[in-house]
Amino acid sequence: MSIHHQNWSGHAPFHSARFHQPTTVDEVREAVRNANKVRVIGSRHCFNDIADTTGDLISLSRLDPDLVIDREKNTATVPAGITYGELCPQLHAAGYALPNTASLDHITVIGACMTATHGSGDTLGNLATPVSGLEMVTATGDRVTLTREDHPDRFSGAVVSLGALGVVTRVTLNLEPTFSILQHVYQGLPSARLYESFDAIMGAGYSVSLFPSWKEDVIDSLWVKQQVPDGEDAPAVEPEFYGATLPPDGHFWKEPADRYWTPVRTVGPWHERLPHFHFNDPEQEGDELQSEYFVARPHAVEALKVVASFRERLAPILVVSEIRTVAADDLWLSTAYGHDVVAIHFNWRNDWPDVRDFLPLLEEQLTPFEPRPHWGKLSEIDPAQVGARYPRIDDFRSLADEFDPSGKFRNAYINRCIFG
Ligand SMILES: Cc1cc2nc3c(=O)[nH]c(=O)nc-3n(C[C@H](O)[C@H](O)[C@H](O)COP(=O)(O)OP(=O)(O)OC[C@H]3O[C@@H](n4cnc5c(N)ncnc54)[C@H](O)[C@@H]3O)c2cc1C
Repeated sequence: MSIHHQNWSGHAPFHSARFHQPTTVDEVREAVRNANKVRVIGSRHCFNDIADTTGDLISLSRLDPDLVIDREKNTATVPAGITYGELCPQLHAAGYALPNTASLDHITVIGACMTATHGSGDTLGNLATPVSGLEMVTATGDRVTLTREDHPDRFSGAVVSLGALGVVTRVTLNLEPTFSILQHVYQGLPSARLYESFDAIMGAGYSVSLFPSWKEDVIDSLWVKQQVPDGEDAPAVEPEFYGATLPPDGHFWKEPADRYWTPVRTVGPWHERLPHFHFNDPEQEGDELQSEYFVARPHAVEALKVVASFRERLAPILVVSEIRTVAADDLWLSTAYGHDVVAIHFNWRNDWPDVRDFLPLLEEQLTPFEPRPHWGKLSEIDPAQVGARYPRIDDFRSLADEFDPSGKFRNAYINRCIFG
C-alpha cells in the first residue's frame, strides 16, 4: 500500500484528493498556497485520523536533508521529516545526544513532537521538550520562525500542535553530550510490590518501563535503563529487584518475527539502548492498534489497580501494556502539561470493533483520574472532556485561529478534538 493511502496500521484510511512530496521549501509553500485543505504526514504511525485530509496531503520525506549542528549553542537544526533512526546516529557521531527516545526510532521528529510522543523517565520530558525552534510554512504560504527564546508564549503552543498551525519544515533541538546506557530486563515483578514501592521502582534507573499483560497479579517484565558515565565501569546489577528476577539469557520474551530487541546486559550508545526494539523491515506495515492514557503521578497506583480489575475483559484483545513516566512540561497541548504523569499504554490486537466496545468501559473507570489520552492513539473519551483537561486549550484555539484563520489545516480530527 503506498504511503498516502492509509496510516501505518491500516486502521485509518487517508481521504486526500492530492499527494505531494516537495523537494524544496518553495514547493511546500506553493502546495500550501494552492490548497483549500491540507495536512502533512510523517511516518504515519498515529492510529487515528489525526493526519487525514480530504484535500492535499504532503510528505516532507524528499525535502533537503541538511543537518546543522551549532557547537556554541549545543543545538541541531534538522529537517522536520527526518526520522530518529536517521538522526540519532549522526548526533552520536558528532558527540551529542537527545535526552530520550520513544520505544522505536522509525517515527519522524516532527510527527513525534506534534503529538507529544514520549519515552520513559522520571526526570525526562517527552520528545517535544528538547525543541527550541521551529521553521514553518503557514496557511498563506509565508515562512515563520518561532523560538523559545524570542516567542516564549506562542512557542509553547506551537511545538505540540497536532499539525494545526502549519507545515513545520525545520526543527531546532537542544542537545546533550552523548552518553551510554546499560539495560536489564527483569521478569515477574509482583503487583503488590509495585503498588507499595511505585516511586522507588520507577526511579530506579534513567528510564524504567513496566510491561504487564494483566493476566496475573504480576508485571511480566521490567526494563531498567541505567546511564553509564564515560570511562566508568558498568554498575553492578542486582539479580533480584523487588521480587523480580533476571532471566539467565537476558530476555524471557520470545522475539516476535517482525522485530528485534535492543541489546541487554551490554553498555552501548544512548540511541541503541533507549528504544526497546527495531522492526526488521522499517517499511513493513503494522498489524496492531494502540491506546494510551496519561494520569497525574499521584494517581498512578489507583489507576493501575483499575486497569488490573479488567483482567478478563483485557485477555482476548490485549497483546501487552506498557507503563512509563514522563516529567512535567509547559507545552500547552502536551499530555504532561503542568504535572508529572504516568503513561498507561495498551497494544491491542488488530480488532477495532472489540477494542472500540471496550474502551468506554475502561475510560469511564479512569475518569476520576482525569486521564489525557495520547493524541496519536485510539480513545473514545468525549473530546470536550479531554479539552477541559488542558488549562491552555482556549489559548491554543486562539493561536490556531491566528495562524490559520481560514481553517486550511483543520481536518475532522482537529474540528472534533480541538474545536468541537
Ligand atoms: C510501533 C509503534 C510504537 C510507538 N511507540 C510510541 C512510544 O514509544 N511513545 C509514544 O508516545 N508514541 C508511540 N507511538 C505513537 C507514534 O509514535 C506517535 O503517535 C507519533 O506522533 C507518530 O509520528 P509520525 O512521524 O508517524 O507522524 P504521523 O503519524 O505521520 O503524524 C502525526 C501528526 O504530526 C503532523 N505532522 C507530521 N509532519 C508534520 C509537519 N511537517 N508539520 C506539521 N505537522 C506535521 C501530522 O499532520 C499529524 O497530526 C508508537 C506508534 C507505533 C506504530
